[in-house]
Amino acid sequence: MQRLMEGYSRFRSKVFPEHSELFARLAEGQKPQALFIACSDSRVMPEMLMQCEPGDLFPCRNAGNLVPPPTETTSGVAATIEYAIRVLKIPDVVICGHSDCGAMKGMLQHEHLDELPLVKSWLRHAGPSSRWLRGMLRAAESFSFERKLKMLTEANVIMQMQNLLAHPVVADGLKASTLKVHGWMYDIGSGRLESFDSELGVFSAIADGQPPVSKTAQPELNITKRGIHV
Ligand code: ZN
Repeated sequence: MQRLMEGYSRFRSKVFPEHSELFARLAEGQKPQALFIACSDSRVMPEMLMQCEPGDLFPCRNAGNLVPPPTETTSGVAATIEYAIRVLKIPDVVICGHSDCGAMKGMLQHEHLDELPLVKSWLRHAGPSSRWLRGMLRAAESFSFERKLKMLTEANVIMQMQNLLAHPVVADGLKASTLKVHGWMYDIGSGRLESFDSELGVFSAIADGQPPVSKTAQPELNITKRGIHV
């Protein structure tokens, strides 16, 4: 904690004064560019990744970057989505999974969740990803744990995009073409981002400075030896 408090001292004495105009502007309101739904993992820092200033991103973080259905109002995710789109008029929603995700590992090694009843309960929202993987396990049987983990994590991003579409405010935004939904994967070791391309059914690297592909359709997922395909 000591190091964190030293950071706060530096923020107060150096960073805040250097950006006083920005903070004065932000004190009046916000106009974030994207709702960024990411995992709580400490190694995933959307603001650093996108080189954002305060006010640029509207983050929503939880274990496994999950989007419960709109009926599940107690999670807070549905309220965050509704507020971001209806009130802040945010034009883009990103669901970002990441490499070495503890939540996804927990789904692959379910016995590790016995001591974590609340995590286990939360991860039921990732259930479709898990069921999908089990269904495809015959094709994936010979794959290494790391390979299966990557597939599950990617599938989970796509499934959560589909859950997102079940929210009326998202469906309305897509229909009116005022909203785009993006599915991304972040590789911690390389710092690389990949975006799900629903035309090709694969995640591909986001080129520097290029706008990512967004998704509106609901693909049928399949595993082949080359990876996830529609
Ligand atoms: Zn994670």
